[in-house]
Amino acid sequence: MTFKRGVIPSVLHYLPEIEAVYRSVNYELLVTSLMDGNHRIGSLHYVGLAVDLRTRGIRHIDQLRLHALLREKLKGRCYVVLERDHFHVELARPGTPAPGKPTASATNPPRASRPRQARRLCQG
Ligand SMILES: [Zn+2]
Repeated sequence: MTFKRGVIPSVLHYLPEIEAVYRSVNYELLVTSLMDGNHRIGSLHYVGLAVDLRTRGIRHIDQLRLHALLREKLKGRCYVVLERDHFHVELARPGTPAPGKPTASATNPPRASRPRQARRLCQG
């Protein structure tokens, strides 16, 4: 498959590669969120550029291994963040920071502007 220059692929484009990585460590891939669910304002989930993958049932050491493998496999194309109970994977776009990297405004936002977030809310 070839994409014309400038076409932004959906995160779905990468699921076969992600699934192959999961299989390489003998786990089944379970997608827990695409455009559904609750995410932060401006999340790439809402435009189809992010996906969450279940980590429940995967030993912690295997989560770390999977994280390293996914980051290597998707390097330069997607960011992979290991959150409390899932992987958040989003397309890497030129000029945008990796998710989870604090910005000046994010490190110390005014208290009144901090959104309340459920414990399982994806931060990506
Ligand atoms: Zn997410």
